Amino acid sequence: MKDSAKPNSAHPRFHDKRQGKRIQTSSRISVRRPHVIKFGGTSLADASCIERVIEIIGRERRCSDVVVVVSAMSGVTDMLVKAAQLAEAQEPVRSGKILEEVRARHESAMKGVIPPGTRRSRIRREIRDLCRQGEEYCARANATRNFTAARRDAILSIGERLSARLLAAALEARQIASEPVDATEIVITDGNHGSAAPHLGATRARCEGRLRPLLRRKIIPIVTGFIGATPEGAITTLGRNSSDLSATLVGGALDANEVTIWTDVSGVMTADPKVVANARVVPEISYDEAAALARFGAKVLHPKTLSPLQSGGVSLRIRSTFETDRPGTKITPTVRAEGRVKAVAAMNEIVTVIGTLNNRGEIISRVLKALGNAGVKAIASVEKLSEHAVSFVVAPEDVSVAQNAIHEELQLNAAVPSCPRDCVRENGAPSSRLIRSDYQAGYQENAQVGAERGLMRRRIVAHCAQPRC
Ligand code: ADP
Ligand code: ASP
Ligand code: MG
Repeated sequence: MKDSAKPNSAHPRFHDKRQGKRIQTSSRISVRRPHVIKFGGTSLADASCIERVIEIIGRERRCSDVVVVVSAMSGVTDMLVKAAQLAEAQEPVRSGKILEEVRARHESAMKGVIPPGTRRSRIRREIRDLCRQGEEYCARANATRNFTAARRDAILSIGERLSARLLAAALEARQIASEPVDATEIVITDGNHGSAAPHLGATRARCEGRLRPLLRRKIIPIVTGFIGATPEGAITTLGRNSSDLSATLVGGALDANEVTIWTDVSGVMTADPKVVANARVVPEISYDEAAALARFGAKVLHPKTLSPLQSGGVSLRIRSTFETDRPGTKITPTVRAEGRVKAVAAMNEIVTVIGTLNNRGEIISRVLKALGNAGVKAIASVEKLSEHAVSFVVAPEDVSVAQNAIHEELQLNAAVPSCPRDCVRENGAPSSRLIRSDYQAGYQENAQVGAERGLMRRRIVAHCAQPRC
């Protein structure tokens, strides 16, 4: 990442860490710290998902100014990747068909969320125009036989540009003022197409200039994730799965009070729930642990997500669009549960245990023994790749057995939850009852009877009694 902002004690962020409070910008105008909320592709998969997203946005905007960042509808970027490949392979008819499917998918969702009328006609036109643009990008690539990475990025950008327009129109249809914003206007990157690195300084200035005026006018910006542009205006993409990074870039740039990533799981979990059936949510995890988890394969976060938040200490929350009564996971600058193993992740044939590991030797011997018992041959990685991770190399066919065996051995499904300090709001009101029941269930299940359990109960009750929002 270029020109990363250094901690600067003169900067307003370091004078006021209070949630939702006003800060002074360099021009000494007082502004509110917004909440940046990001929705992944699975959260925008169809009309009923978009309805849920609208409900969440409706609730969040009652508590603070909101900036929304969106991914493409699930599967759409994969379709566009295919279209780009076909264009490159001189198959214009087949790439055109894919763009036709993309158009039909958005128009079908549009019919579910926008009633017939002028607004629907306008958004239908916009969907068609963008898909036509996509076809032109593909066709031009064929015509010139010069298929550059830049053109591929332009094709891939269509997915987020469509979903942002669709969501903004659906919000408008419910009298919620919003405006789609292409991140090409605000996320400035280098020219490394396909994996562009953001320039933080330029992005901050653009976010101030483009988003802050909308917030002042109570208009919710709906920003496209995943994409950016070079200073000269060429469309770039930040890498697959990078809308998480887009959200934290915007959050860091606007001094957000918090960034929330809404996804299809209830938080960062002790393992990928698709691999380990009894994985459970980790209530709290540090920046460094979360970054290690992402780096060693947990798809729930893009590996670079945390870096834009680090200098400002903005916290990040992961929550489920499909279980909105759950507090999710809070990712904070520091660790508050020292020595605990938090999760297991896998990337290719490398299975990694993540946490603040001050007992590495013991973990390695327990894991090797458990893997042996499960019939998995493994070697512990000799290199210390991260102070928050210890890795094991196994055969590709053993990766999921290994994760399950490690999860079991380290009793990750029985981690004692810590009590969250900050607010989780439901319908604009404090949700103490929800937090209390969630966390009490957790400690009753897991904490030993006795002093630890008593302390945990007192912390939860005291925390939940505090006013929120
Ligand atoms: P989105 O579309 O919201 O960006 P992703 O598919 O990129 O969602 O990320 C969510 C997925 O990450 C989950 O469905 C889950 O299978 C996977 N995942 C992998 N490891 C973890 C983990 N440790 N905790 C939670 N989810 C995980
Ligand atoms: N739509 C992009 C992708 O599928 C970015 C993202 O979803 O985060 O990779
Ligand atoms: Mg994702």
